[in-house]
Amino acid sequence: MQVARSGREHLESLRDGRDVFINGARVADVTSHKAFRNSVASAARLYDFQAEPARIEAMTFASPESGRRVSRGWQLPASYDELVERRRALEAWAGLHFGFMGRSPDHVASCISGMYMGLELFEAYDRKRAAAVHDYYRFARDNDLFLTYVIINPQADRSKAAHAQADPFLAAGVVDEDAAGLTIRGAKMLGTSGIMANEVFVTCIQPLSPGDEKQAVSFAIPMNAKGLRVLSRKSYEEHATSRFDNPLSSQFDENDAVLYFDDVKVPWERVFVNQSIEMTLKQFHGTPAHVYQNYQCQIRLLVKMRFLAGIAHTIAEANGIIGFPQVRDTLGQIAAEVGLVDGLMHGMEAKGRQAGAYFVPDRHLLYSAQSLTQQLYPKVITAIRDLAGGGVIMVPSSIADFDDPGLAAIIDKTQKSPVFSPQERVKFFKLAWDALGSEFASRHLQYEMFYAGASFVTRGHAYRTFDWATCKDMVDSLMGSYPTPAAPKTK
Ligand SMILES: Cc1cc2nc3c(=O)[nH]c(=O)nc-3n(C[C@H](O)[C@H](O)[C@H](O)COP(=O)(O)OP(=O)(O)OC[C@H]3O[C@@H](n4cnc5c(N)ncnc54)[C@H](O)[C@@H]3O)c2cc1C
Repeated sequence: MQVARSGREHLESLRDGRDVFINGARVADVTSHKAFRNSVASAARLYDFQAEPARIEAMTFASPESGRRVSRGWQLPASYDELVERRRALEAWAGLHFGFMGRSPDHVASCISGMYMGLELFEAYDRKRAAAVHDYYRFARDNDLFLTYVIINPQADRSKAAHAQADPFLAAGVVDEDAAGLTIRGAKMLGTSGIMANEVFVTCIQPLSPGDEKQAVSFAIPMNAKGLRVLSRKSYEEHATSRFDNPLSSQFDENDAVLYFDDVKVPWERVFVNQSIEMTLKQFHGTPAHVYQNYQCQIRLLVKMRFLAGIAHTIAEANGIIGFPQVRDTLGQIAAEVGLVDGLMHGMEAKGRQAGAYFVPDRHLLYSAQSLTQQLYPKVITAIRDLAGGGVIMVPSSIADFDDPGLAAIIDKTQKSPVFSPQERVKFFKLAWDALGSEFASRHLQYEMFYAGASFVTRGHAYRTFDWATCKDMVDSLMGSYPTPAAPKTK
């Protein structure tokens, strides 16, 4: 069985002349740059993991076109059983990074696969654009590409529409259109994993207003497209002094970057929607795309929640507080919250529906999960920090302190725990801080609160997709079972 992409091939594919910038300089090679190399290697590891002979069946499926094995993120489940089979593969991938790589390749693969499942919507809109979606899904799947997406316009003045900003091309939009395709100018807010992805899917999920037609596009281009500039945020990996000191940020800092389109040419065969406000929105909500992409997020989040529960329990053991009823109460609450995420994920699957040839997770339970988990994550982090006290701060400055015999002796005397050696205690609390309080952890808090949209957006989806009629019928039926006093007679 041959896989479409190995880790080595993925690394090789990133040496493509892309324009990535950090700390005022252009990055020659993201696979070797100190700001990115370990995270890029973690992404490559995903491809190697799925190719392991013992795992290849569970983690991949054979492309119906090429016959080569590709990630199950591209799979189009036809039944509940296939959905669960696909989820197990996604869960195993998330286990490799403990849920800390939000935009692993299965995320946007899930979105594009969902768009493909709703191809008839594109056919009703424009047959050529539908052909572009059709061909792109197959191309990306058969090469097992790592895709990122940028679907949010940059913050500036949120009270004004995209076209009404001081610069009408602040948000990426069409500046020109010719026989070859579109020319795009402007920015998109953030592309997570962009530095290590092969291609980027560009569109807008925010509601657009009349006049925003130029921003109402949808297309995919390679990350090395001419004119595409990738402006990285600060790298936490670069500032991680060692694996011991920052076990998570040193390996799983997936990166976020502003993408600027400096008159980038997009050929027609890569354009999925051209200047249609209605279709730009429908591509997500009129197809299973939005459900599939965010269902993947909940699978990943569940893995991360289990990991955080493990951190919480270990803190309680490390400090000898595990026997206190109040501490058990906190741990019980965390356990219940992990159970909530677990239950919602299984619920989405169990309540899924057959949509034509495909099986799609339940939309309302997905939006319930999104809305509740973006509130839950900060709560769980705060609860674990409450258990930790100052232990996450009472740690040596870096692993280098162990090299000094005098300091090592003091560390040995002062880092005490009923379950850990002094050295293990330091190791564990360094990990706990990287998960709970480091700059990397803080970015994760912001990620979990916002990756699916601000809370008014996710609650809006929960409101829109809920079965209000059944609930109101119950109220009406009870009220209908007893008389209403007559209104007073008017004179
Ligand atoms: C770590 C991280 C990674 C990300 N990665 C990606 C990525 O890979 N791809 C991508 O496309 N995007 C990405 N994003 C962007 C993400 O999708 C957005 O942050 C999210 O959609 C919210 O949009 P915003 O940040 O512009 O917030 P805003 O929409 O500006 O909202 C911020 C706050 O302003 C208030 N507000 C704004 N508008 C309204 C309104 N109409 N009514 C009431 N209140 C309002 C609310 O209090 C809201 O919480 C990422 C974000 C983060 C933090």
